Formats: sequence, C-alpha cells, structure tokens
Amino acid sequence: MDLERHDFELAELVDRIKENDTRLIALQVPEGLKMQALEMMDSIETETSAKVVLAADPCYGACDLVHDKMQRMGVELVAHMGHSQMNIDSGMPTQFIPVIYDGDPELKAVIPFLEAHRTIARNRLENPVETSTDQDGREKFEDMVGRVAPLTDSKLGLVGSIQHLHLLPDFKKRLEDAGYDVTIPVGGARLTFPGQVLGCNYSGDDPTVGHYLFLGSGDFHPIGLVLHTGKPLAMLDPYSGEATEMGRERIERILRQRSGLIMSCMDKQRFAILIGEKPGQMRRTLALRMKRLLEKHGKKGYLLALEHIGPDLIDFYPVDAYVNTACPRIAIDDAVRYGKPLITPYELEVALGEKKWENGYQFDEIP
Ligand code: SF4
Repeated sequence: MDLERHDFELAELVDRIKENDTRLIALQVPEGLKMQALEMMDSIETETSAKVVLAADPCYGACDLVHDKMQRMGVELVAHMGHSQMNIDSGMPTQFIPVIYDGDPELKAVIPFLEAHRTIARNRLENPVETSTDQDGREKFEDMVGRVAPLTDSKLGLVGSIQHLHLLPDFKKRLEDAGYDVTIPVGGARLTFPGQVLGCNYSGDDPTVGHYLFLGSGDFHPIGLVLHTGKPLAMLDPYSGEATEMGRERIERILRQRSGLIMSCMDKQRFAILIGEKPGQMRRTLALRMKRLLEKHGKKGYLLALEHIGPDLIDFYPVDAYVNTACPRIAIDDAVRYGKPLITPYELEVALGEKKWENGYQFDEIP
C-alpha cells in the first residue's frame, strides 16, 4: 500500500488533541493499516503531550467500536481510521478518518465493460416479462441471482469504497460526457455518504439502476453488491488503474455453494445461532426469531454470543450447523473455514421451507 498517497488527517487529529488537552487517545485501525500504526502513534506523541493506545484487536468496519472498553481504560478520544460513522452511537468523542487515497484512474479501461453491461440493462428494460412465472421470460430476463425484478431505467449506478468516494462527482461528469446516464445512489442510515457501499449494506440500489461501476480494489464489495442486486457490475481499481467485471460465473459459483449449504442443513437438528457482540453487528431480535423458527420445526437452536467469530471458537460445540446473525460476510466469504455448514438467516428459512430459493437469492443485509 502506497502510504504517501493516503490522507490520515493526522494534523487535524493533533489539533483536536491540543485544543481539548486530551491526555489519552486510542487509535483503531483496519488490518491493512496496522503495520503503520506505531509510526502514527510516534508522530502523535511527538507533536502533543497525549499518550496513544492502539486498539489492537481485529477491526473490519465501523460496526466494530471499541469505545466502552477504551472508556474503561480512561481513553478520552478514539480515532477510528478507514471507515465512516454508522447509525450507532459511539458513546464517546470519536474522530472518524476515512483515509482518502489520491489515485485517479483513467476511465477508458472500464468503458468496454460498461458498454456491454448497459446493453444487458437496456435489454431487460425494453423486454419486460409478462408474468414472473413464464420460463422463457426467466431465462431471458432474470438477473444474476435469479430474480425477475423489473427495471424502470438502465442508469449507471456509480459507487465506491470510502477511500475513493471523493472521486465520484468528477467521475459522474466524465461518464456523462462519455454518454452515460449516471446516478450516485443514496443509501440508508448505515451509510454516511452518497455512493458509499459496505460489505453488509447496499441500500442505495433502486429499480432505475441497470448496472454498476465500483471504484475500489478487491472483490469484497463487488460480490456483495451483485449478490444483493443481481445487476452487472464493472470495477475500476484506483490503485492499479485496472478494470474488470464481477463475472456471472463467479456469482453462480457462490450461489451453488450457498445452495449446497442450504441443502445440507435441511435434515440437521441442532443449530448454534451466532450473535455478534460488536455494536454494529448485534442482531439479537433476528437471532431470537431464528431460534423460534427452529423450535417451530422441532429443532434446537443454541444462542452463542461472540465478539470475534472463528472456527477455533465454535467448531467444538456438539451442534450440526451454524446460523450466523453477526457480520453477514462471515457466512458468505468464510464458510469453507468451518467444520460444519455456516448459513445466513435467509438460508435457514429456505432450508426450513419458509422461503423459496426460486424467488431469487436474498442477500443478508444489515439495515
Ligand atoms: S458488519 Fe461486516 S460487512 Fe458490515 S461493516 Fe461490519 S465488518 Fe463490514
């Protein structure tokens, strides 16, 4: 990672520490930045009289606030890097620092993908299905996750991860100049900025968006966005300038895996229902609903509350499968690491016959 080109906003943080005469601050940084944390701590301690504690547990999102623990330690300010504030109360002074990257990739590499995806979106728009049960219609118009949801337009939805959101207004203009009808989707309360996506929330999607362009690196967000929307998605990486797409084969492979896990859970009797203890992951009501649902079908559901979820912490329990209500991506991205099937609440409902897979895959979103 090219750190020189990221803005850690340390000058603003130092000003805030000096203004408030803060004595003890905590840094909470995502895994990719941990190597640089000691350097940042040195710099803050050199420029202020504050002492700095690194909250060194794994951190993958703003869902994971360590504030109660830091407050008990006497910390007066938390600097949370790489994420933006969610709709959860941190309970103490917090500086969210997005860590903006200054890379500005060229558009031309991604245009061939956008052209192809716009054609797919226009075909879906111009050839509406008469009934959602018509098999021909399904084959022709269904999206990547098997729905026949109608589009009302074929706009290009422009989204990105937090480090690159500052590029969106300029990219919108460039794309419009290239002939695209562009929208920057505005999501719900869990998202702070227009065009922002999280691994667990794509609430800005609407029927006017026919296809997507994601500015960011890696396939974590693209996989979630396509599983949630079923729409074609192109990716442009501001770090490398390279463009690609989230291919249908990749999504189909994930769906086949999910389908296999659901089928393997159909005859299971004893389930552990995982509840995430992190403030932005805790879905107690959903977990209790899953327990009642299992009981309705004559099965057992044991509620397990954990801060961090991993195979070492749960694989030894005498249960047949897991239902995960914590971070939705644990089930989607990490299922192979576990010794027993790990499924989402929606997938449990399908396994129990309460919902139908045929109506299209339903991504587990935290609103
Ligand atoms: S719940 Fe998971 S996907 Fe959502 S912000 Fe937290 S770590 Fe990311």
